[in-house]
Amino acid sequence: MKQLSTLLVIVITAIGAFAVMAQDDELTVITTTTQATDLAMILSEGAEGVTITPLMGAGVDPHLYQPTESDITAMSEADVVVYSGLNLEGQFDTVFEALAEQDVVIYAMSQPVKDAGFIIGAFELEEEVLGTDDPHFWFDPRNWEITAMDLAGAMAELDANNADLYMANAEAYVEDLRTLYDWADSGMRAVPGNQRYLVTSHDAFQYYGAAFGWRMAAIQGVSTEDEAGVGDIQETVDFVINNDIPVLFVESTISPDTIQAVVEAVAAGGGEVRVGVRELYSDAMGEPDTFGGTFVGMIAENTYTVLQSYACAGVELEIPEWPEGLTPEPSEELLNVDCDA
Ligand SMILES: [Zn+2]
Repeated sequence: MKQLSTLLVIVITAIGAFAVMAQDDELTVITTTTQATDLAMILSEGAEGVTITPLMGAGVDPHLYQPTESDITAMSEADVVVYSGLNLEGQFDTVFEALAEQDVVIYAMSQPVKDAGFIIGAFELEEEVLGTDDPHFWFDPRNWEITAMDLAGAMAELDANNADLYMANAEAYVEDLRTLYDWADSGMRAVPGNQRYLVTSHDAFQYYGAAFGWRMAAIQGVSTEDEAGVGDIQETVDFVINNDIPVLFVESTISPDTIQAVVEAVAAGGGEVRVGVRELYSDAMGEPDTFGGTFVGMIAENTYTVLQSYACAGVELEIPEWPEGLTPEPSEELLNVDCDA
């Protein structure tokens, strides 16, 4: 059934491309997640006649987000809906099925990355356990390079007038993503190998960890749809104590309660564990016009947060200089953190 629906989407994509080109010179794009919005905006920078309408804002959990009536209307009137896929938008299945019958192009950003086998294909084991792929593929910036080039190609097909611009924007952006990856990689590998553990509330960071040589542990699984139970919390407490983990991280789209419960349980057993110096962005980026409101800034801010938190916990490490010319640039406030705040 899953394979059949994937096939359907591909067929509809092909049909939709021709239908849209015949209609008008405008390109109406609906984006689900903040990551999708950011990428569509970067690729279409300078293009005329392109409208991008985001459905989810900062701090919204896409696993749980229910499309509203007006979302559904907007999607059905659009030329293309850009979404993340791999079941990240868990409440959109029926809507997408209905849209596919209306000649709306439905573009899954994860599809070209999955087709390429992901940059680090270490997820077969996960897939066996979960029966599905981990949806958080964008956290390896090299996966995002694949998406950027592919989405530019899809937009170029839908809107031939701006085709060259989409491709040029994508090529320039891929260079930025490579610079970002190299910077984050040298920072994350500055932490000694046996101390590279990222413990979070839900399992969003497997690709992020794999990209930079870190291991992950989370209280909840890859979706937030099932609530964390007492057993999940106890398991995490044991993991933190047994591996001598110094820091736990709260995510921007998830209540800090479960992480707090782990901190308290570790403390009750005589242990000590800190909470990260700020929240991590997991399934949504920051507010527009902030550093973390862009993909580059979001990956970078998370990397600063992890490294600063480990430094505050006493791990000796050096955070590499921000690459010259890479935008947006981190603020002084982000760079200078107070460990005791
Ligand atoms: Zn998630």
